[in-house]
Amino acid sequence: MSVKVVAGNIKGLVNSLNFAGKVERSLQLIHEAYEAYGERLLVANSLGKDSMAVWHLAKRVSPEIPGFIVTTRFKPPETVEFMHQMVARYPELKVYRNDEPIPDRLYETDPDRCCEILKVEPIRRAIEEMNVACWVTGLRCTEGRTRMDFQEVEERDKGLIKLNPILIWQEREVWQYLAMHQVPVNPLYAKGYRSLGCEPCTRITTSGDERAGRWMGTSKCGGECGIHTRPLKLDYQI
Ligand code: SF4
Repeated sequence: MSVKVVAGNIKGLVNSLNFAGKVERSLQLIHEAYEAYGERLLVANSLGKDSMAVWHLAKRVSPEIPGFIVTTRFKPPETVEFMHQMVARYPELKVYRNDEPIPDRLYETDPDRCCEILKVEPIRRAIEEMNVACWVTGLRCTEGRTRMDFQEVEERDKGLIKLNPILIWQEREVWQYLAMHQVPVNPLYAKGYRSLGCEPCTRITTSGDERAGRWMGTSKCGGECGIHTRPLKLDYQI
């Protein structure tokens, strides 16, 4: 892949590039990746605000671009309802979920294991079954302490490209984009949530850190479920 717009000092662009420049850059990144990977490019749609912005950007590049959603038994009812609405509107969004039995309250005793089973396993399956060569995410480097060192184009797993086309967007710019294009969002944002996840592991917080409400009270606080940090190819052995 030869995305020409990749820069060395990506963080410098967070404040130096204006909103219009960022939107143009994101569209260009998706466009070039789509030209390179075609139908093997898919958007991972978490149904959060960032994913909805990326989904909208991808649809501007090509309405043909498909996606997948990873959901769990612990998603809040509002997120489940929003997911049903999105899948009805975009049948090209395929839903993945792991329903295997797990110990009660595993999210309290071992949240890393819980995320590995309920989130990382289905995304590995999605990548394998849908023959994904490039997956597109809504990850942003200003979201929190664990997201500062990503790149716009990554190859953490050999043969699997991860494209983070809104990596340099600020939270405000995501809302700006969604409002300007009247993109629907999960109603939980109206209640004060800034980052959405499973119900037992997500709280409303007024902290400056956007992801501070995730896994509060655990060592995983403000951290990651693993889909951006764990190997995703099925030939990897846990
Ligand atoms: S976010 Fe919480 S409930 Fe959801 S998979 Fe991770 S640990 Fe389990």
